[in-house]
Amino acid sequence: MEQKSIEELGEFGLIDHLTNDFVSKHPQTIKGIGDDAAVIKRGDKAVLISTDMLVEGIHFDMMYSPLMHLGYKSVVVSLSDIFAMNAVPTHITMSIALSSKYDTAALTELYQGVKKACDFYNVDLIGGDTTSSLKGMIISVTAYGSADEKDVVYRSGARNGDVLCVTGDLGAAYLGLQILEREKRLYLDNPGVQPELSKHQYAIERQLKPEARRDTIEYFKKNGFKPTSMIDISDGLSSDLMHLCKQSSLGAHIEEGKVPMHDDTQTMAIDFRLDPITCALSGGEDYELLFTIDPKDLDKIRYMPDMAIIGEMNDPKDGVKLHTTGGNIYPLKAQGWNHFEE
Ligand code: ADP
Ligand code: MG
Repeated sequence: MEQKSIEELGEFGLIDHLTNDFVSKHPQTIKGIGDDAAVIKRGDKAVLISTDMLVEGIHFDMMYSPLMHLGYKSVVVSLSDIFAMNAVPTHITMSIALSSKYDTAALTELYQGVKKACDFYNVDLIGGDTTSSLKGMIISVTAYGSADEKDVVYRSGARNGDVLCVTGDLGAAYLGLQILEREKRLYLDNPGVQPELSKHQYAIERQLKPEARRDTIEYFKKNGFKPTSMIDISDGLSSDLMHLCKQSSLGAHIEEGKVPMHDDTQTMAIDFRLDPITCALSGGEDYELLFTIDPKDLDKIRYMPDMAIIGEMNDPKDGVKLHTTGGNIYPLKAQGWNHFEE
């Protein structure tokens, strides 16, 4: 039988292709592949597990990623997937592969960042693995979390008519990356030139030192609220909304004018001759939370800070649509990071 190429399959097609034949053997496996974290039952509790990998040259560039920030970020991106299940992260393991260009001082700095994140998010580093690599650095962090089983929120729980919400603002991390890449090119062409970064601090920080939305999960708990579905935005709003829709077997629409963006994001996008909404929809690496609410619960989060209502879940036959401020309706495309298409 002819096999499809990786390009044809894409990242998610490849994961499906590789994992199709795996059936859970243990009744405790509540959720295996297909959500932000796997869910394993332990009495009334659930253990959450999620793993993420960062590869030098793909996810980070040593020319502009300070090692301390890189250590911090590598923990944060894993914890974000635990929060996205409405759970609290408790432990991580961290594995690194290193080429000979790294010395003890560099790795000490990396681990200072890891420690900062562990302290800030109250998680224990409990192990990992260290090995060599032919080229560059590879970092893999596995995060473990815990929740009452009844509190776990999946991508698949949205219902038709649920209100679609997002935390924080979108698109800044992507523009931060554009700035860093631009300054890198200028520097390489002309090594005497000092990089022009101070004007774009917000976006650069969102790229180099993101935070995960622990505050959102805490707010939900304090207000006795549980979303019907949730996902963290790592690939971009469009892509991640499509995951939510697919897993919940629904369509959705979002309103362009409601998608939250920082003022700096809007001006920087225009500087780069990019459409701000495209950056917000397709940028990725925001690590905000996208979630759905049963309309009758709206009162419980009426005063939630840093949250925007951006749309609604619809019938699957309506597809996934963007209503523009100009009154047009476009189907959304998944344009998130797809490393196999680079
Ligand atoms: P996220 O963006 O939330 O980190 P991913 O898009 O990376 O999630 O992964 C989607 C799902 O596929 C997850 O359940 C993840 O554990 C699983 N997955 C990804 N790569 C593999 C792999 N190589 N083998 C098995 N499962 C995988
Ligand atoms: Mg995720």
